[in-house]
Amino acid sequence: MATITGPIDVSALRARLDRASTAAEQAGVDALLISPGSDLRYLIGAGGDSFERLTCLALPVGGTPTLVVPKLEQPGYAGIPTDELGVEVVTWVDGEDPYALVKAAIKGDRTAVADMMPALHTIKLGNAIGGQQSLAGPIIRELRMRKDASEIDALRKAGQAIDRVHARMGEFLRVGRTEREVAKDIAAAIVEEGHTHADFVIVGSGPNGASPHHRDSDRVVEAGDVVVIDIGGPVAEGYNSDSTRVYVMGEPKHDDVWDTYAVLQAAQKAAVEAVQPGVTCEQIDAVARTVIADAGFGEFFVHRTGHGIGLDVHEEPYIVSGNALPLEAGMAFSVEPGIYLPGRWGARIEDIVVATENGVESFNNRPHELVVL
Ligand code: ZN
Ligand code: ZN
Ligand code: ZN
Repeated sequence: MATITGPIDVSALRARLDRASTAAEQAGVDALLISPGSDLRYLIGAGGDSFERLTCLALPVGGTPTLVVPKLEQPGYAGIPTDELGVEVVTWVDGEDPYALVKAAIKGDRTAVADMMPALHTIKLGNAIGGQQSLAGPIIRELRMRKDASEIDALRKAGQAIDRVHARMGEFLRVGRTEREVAKDIAAAIVEEGHTHADFVIVGSGPNGASPHHRDSDRVVEAGDVVVIDIGGPVAEGYNSDSTRVYVMGEPKHDDVWDTYAVLQAAQKAAVEAVQPGVTCEQIDAVARTVIADAGFGEFFVHRTGHGIGLDVHEEPYIVSGNALPLEAGMAFSVEPGIYLPGRWGARIEDIVVATENGVESFNNRPHELVVL
């Protein structure tokens, strides 16, 4: 079933449909074929998953966008102002051929299909339409990584919501509790503070903090532990938060914690301050990496500096060596360097920021210092 949890901004959606059509034309395809998922939500405002019955937005270059949807799924799209968006809705029932309906809604046979469309549908569409299939991802992500004003508002709202959860961390994170108990309470707080659900909760205490994608475990938080808390989820508009802060349970049990953490804090600050239009993604990565490497911790910073964020937690642009994409106003992404000392402790500081016309805005504004609980 399609899900509509946020306000529908008709003019923003119309503009996106137009831009998608233009981008498709420039890419030399005749139509975009978009199945339920983040791309469809971006274009018409309805979230949801793909199932064995085909739902597909056919977006022909220079033609009428057509939503082909099973009759029994149609009520889920009732909240979408399809008339105002200029989207025609074509329903089908079991026994009919939905792939032929998509073919009838487009002209030409060069189609670009959503990256996450199930192979079941991709292959049947290919057989019905013939011609040449390619991925729509490279076309849509050119749009999605440049956020419009309503998207930036939603990301700001998400950032404020997750900041409120971090502000309450002393309620949840205490010596003697397991990581899992702490994570369960944090997940509830993520909802209480304005998200539709918790998408992920990482509680990495002590040596578990040295594993960047550790989730939680039965480990009991001890006095002196450094604890990495990386949390996020979507707000009603569908846009995600993602923020990491580091806590220490009293005086740290390792004597290198304060100095090493100061290096990480300096690296994260320098990388955020380097953000402005024209600077490339890999330059931002290099700023953080250089500070950490110069202090002798280069081998312990084992991942890229950041990822774009929006309707998906991880999307373009990636802040990584080799990505020469210049930042533009409206590009939103994480800045999250880390230092991971295997078997001992680890730390990561993560803010979501957006490049603005003249610099940078951070959506996360909790203090960056190691927080003593
Ligand atoms: Zn990640
Ligand atoms: Zn994160
Ligand atoms: Zn992240």
